[in-house]
Amino acid sequence: MADTLAETTHWGNLKTEVAGYVGIDTLQEQIRKKVLKRGFEFNIMVVGRSGLGKSTLINTLFKANVSLRSCSKSEEKVEIPKTTHVKSVSHVIEEKGVRLRLTVTDTPGFGDQINNDNCWLPVLDYINEQYENYLSEEQSVTRKKHIPDTRIHCCLYFISPTGHSLSPLDIEFMRRLDRCVNIVPVIAKADTLTIEERVGFKQRIKQDLANNGIRTYPMKELEEDPEETVTNNKIRELLPFAVVGSNQQYPNNGRTVYGRKTQWGLVEVENRSHCEFSDLRDMLIRTHMQDLVEVTRSVHYENFRQDRLASRRGRTQFNGQVIDMDSMNESSL
Ligand code: GDP
Ligand code: MG
Repeated sequence: MADTLAETTHWGNLKTEVAGYVGIDTLQEQIRKKVLKRGFEFNIMVVGRSGLGKSTLINTLFKANVSLRSCSKSEEKVEIPKTTHVKSVSHVIEEKGVRLRLTVTDTPGFGDQINNDNCWLPVLDYINEQYENYLSEEQSVTRKKHIPDTRIHCCLYFISPTGHSLSPLDIEFMRRLDRCVNIVPVIAKADTLTIEERVGFKQRIKQDLANNGIRTYPMKELEEDPEETVTNNKIRELLPFAVVGSNQQYPNNGRTVYGRKTQWGLVEVENRSHCEFSDLRDMLIRTHMQDLVEVTRSVHYENFRQDRLASRRGRTQFNGQVIDMDSMNESSL
């Protein structure tokens, strides 16, 4: 029996009856307590031209001032850097005893120049640098019990609401990075498009993504059961989410709602008939946050790790002799 159990991950048929209460059911609670004590980590990155509402949307998502802009004084002039800069800011937010260390990484300067060639490069470098840090921490002789995770779990890519289709830069960025990070494309400032414009725009973007072989999150290849596929198909149908962000609240039918007030009415951020902000929020926070972290670890980081270790193999010499890295334990590298 023991041999069979070791070989299979499908335990269903191998159940041995227990004669009385053992207490295995407490495992779930034991894990819950341990995880709660440490808290959760989630690292999100926003990419897109300046002024597309990236900082506003992140603040709207977490109902808090968590983006970079809110950290600088309001009267400070917003200067556009000459190249893409990558900046992170961390906050701890708590809800019903669950703590989340949220890190928002902004990319000011992306796509803002006349010549935007290679402006994706600093973003890619930053993502890889986090993988590199994690790898060297994992391999250090005195490694930490819990390695701080700075790897980007989700990259929100903001598409300009032009109503046309993806720009060459949009395509270039997503093609370069879709194998390194979970990319979730969104149509920024969707309130500036009419219903028909939005539908047509979304269709053309979907076509562009497919034509260029761009893999966005959630990825079909990684699904493990039909139930997951059904949920994810609904999300894929909606992609790219047409979103609206706002830090302002307004009274509306006896409630206060986040929205954007215009001369002709109020666009409600969380109203599903106005925009797809709620769908994005549900996926990022309520249904797929853990999966985004898991996919980053088991797919994107794993690819990086394998490439890195493979490239070291053969190059590594010891006293003039090439060491066979296959026979070595990962932690002794
Ligand atoms: P960022 O440079 O991408 O971080 O953009 P900001 O969040 O700083 O927003 C730039 C401007 O766009 C601000 O004046 C916001 O109030 C406005 N804005 C943000 N989100 C939206 C939106 O969804 N729709 C519209 N119409 N304006 C928005
Ligand atoms: Mg900003």
